Amino acid sequence: MKLKLLSLLMVVGAAQASAQVTDAMITNAGNDTSSVLSWGMGTQGQRHSTLTNINTSNVSKLVPAWTMSFGGEKQRGQESQPLVYKGKMFVTASYSRIFAIDVKTGEKIWKYEHRLPEGIMPCCDVVNRGAALYGNLVIFGTLDAQLVALDQDTGKVVWREKIDDYAAGYSQTAAPLIAEGLLLTGVSGGEFGVVGRVEARDPKTGKMVWTRPVVEGHMGYKDGKENGISGTTNATWPGETWKTGGAATWLGGTYDAKTGLAYFGTGNPGPWNSHVRKGDNLYSASTVAIDVKTGKIAWHYQTTPNDAWDYDGVNEFVTFDMDGKRMGAKADRNGFFYVIDATTGKLQNAFPFVKGNTWAKSIDIASGRPNFDPANRPGDPSAAGGDGTKGTTVFAAPGFLGGKNQMPMAYSPKSKLFYVPTNEWGMDIWNEPISYKKGGAYLGAGFTIRPLFDDHIGSLRAYDPKTGKMAWEVKNNAPLWGGVLATGGDLVFWGTPEGYLKAADAKTGKVLWQFQTGSGVVAPPITWNDGVNQYVSVVSGWGGAVPLWGGDVAKKVNFLEQGGSVWTFKLSH
Ligand code: CA
Repeated sequence: MKLKLLSLLMVVGAAQASAQVTDAMITNAGNDTSSVLSWGMGTQGQRHSTLTNINTSNVSKLVPAWTMSFGGEKQRGQESQPLVYKGKMFVTASYSRIFAIDVKTGEKIWKYEHRLPEGIMPCCDVVNRGAALYGNLVIFGTLDAQLVALDQDTGKVVWREKIDDYAAGYSQTAAPLIAEGLLLTGVSGGEFGVVGRVEARDPKTGKMVWTRPVVEGHMGYKDGKENGISGTTNATWPGETWKTGGAATWLGGTYDAKTGLAYFGTGNPGPWNSHVRKGDNLYSASTVAIDVKTGKIAWHYQTTPNDAWDYDGVNEFVTFDMDGKRMGAKADRNGFFYVIDATTGKLQNAFPFVKGNTWAKSIDIASGRPNFDPANRPGDPSAAGGDGTKGTTVFAAPGFLGGKNQMPMAYSPKSKLFYVPTNEWGMDIWNEPISYKKGGAYLGAGFTIRPLFDDHIGSLRAYDPKTGKMAWEVKNNAPLWGGVLATGGDLVFWGTPEGYLKAADAKTGKVLWQFQTGSGVVAPPITWNDGVNQYVSVVSGWGGAVPLWGGDVAKKVNFLEQGGSVWTFKLSH
């Protein structure tokens, strides 16, 4: 009798514990096929599911299970990756909204609309890329640079914390990352001379644990005490330039439990005019690996030293095994694909993943530095012979929107290929004098982006990280702006601005299925299995940086309509 009671108590205890998202569950999220617990479908960011129910032989029978509209007049770009847990889908939307949806029926359970002040300054549309789950909370960032934690069941606000001053250009668009019991977030605002950083909070309360600036010269803090300056003041930044150095960590980070490191990409240095900040400008346009326990930088790898082209190095660092070693891969906005030792930061391989890169001829593997083409740096407006208002214009590729931008790639441990959403375009770019003004655009550059080819800008490409060889590609007329999902069913899913969610054979790139979602897809798909069916979901809603910043390209895509909905698919029987 006593034993029976004990086992009953244990069962009750287990049921209660399983209602909470635990650290162990987050660590294992990449293998959990019944839920989607983090951005990246696992903190490593592989965006791979082992599920095989939907596969190359039956994907043609994929049909909508339900769709749900975000409603209102607040449409614009929808770049969000949904999360799925315990019968609920949590999905963020434009203008700092979040919805909980019954994952079986598509019915709305609750919604939270953040009250945004006048004067927010998102550079690249009013987007949000997703939330984090921890305990009974769902946590997301807002365009006025706050973090909001809500009860998963009721949508009630449990805590709210300000990250920084939106009037100085700070905002928050990335999905937070949970690692080792901490909530890790970055900042957006790289076009306004903010100071990029990574912050760790207690996810249950929002209380700050540590903060680590990623601009050399700034002090880090842990438990309210000084925790060392990042780098050495003035080593790579002249004068006062480091105080408004940018390097916004606007795409968030990934985490690998095997290395204990969180990997955050950093954006362009401020201002864009590189002549006023001679030096490497650490740690801008880099991947920064941070020891989650100490809040200190373990290593950094800078993809574009002294960046002059807005080659934000924010792209996701996806960890994977290669030759028995833990590696990280990054398809950088500067057009090169990097394979880096995830423990030490040493470069292993680098190759172009788009055609026609002009700014650097190649990457030197031994030193890890780019072989710059000095003639491709936009000219100094204060150089001799000029009138001081405008430097020499150059045509540079990739254009500043990048060989790849915010749309995350996927890796399949089965095919050992990376599936990279790429864009081929270039730009005319020139520099102008600039001085910092709080809340003002801090560029000192003018630019026009242009396509390089007639038949495509976008292309989904499969790359072997070891050889740098492209296995296949599927070209796309408009620039790709959504992410990718790879599955054990030998499928790759991705969306297009033209509105299609597509599935291709992961080995050959043959498109086997597509569905028109009614607006452009600029968000990454997910998949999970509820015990009966495998589902695929994606958010639809055209927008993001391209229509706002795209120059000649924006004209090419101005027929596309806005939207705001989430679609869920399953096999018809
Ligand atoms: Ca930028």
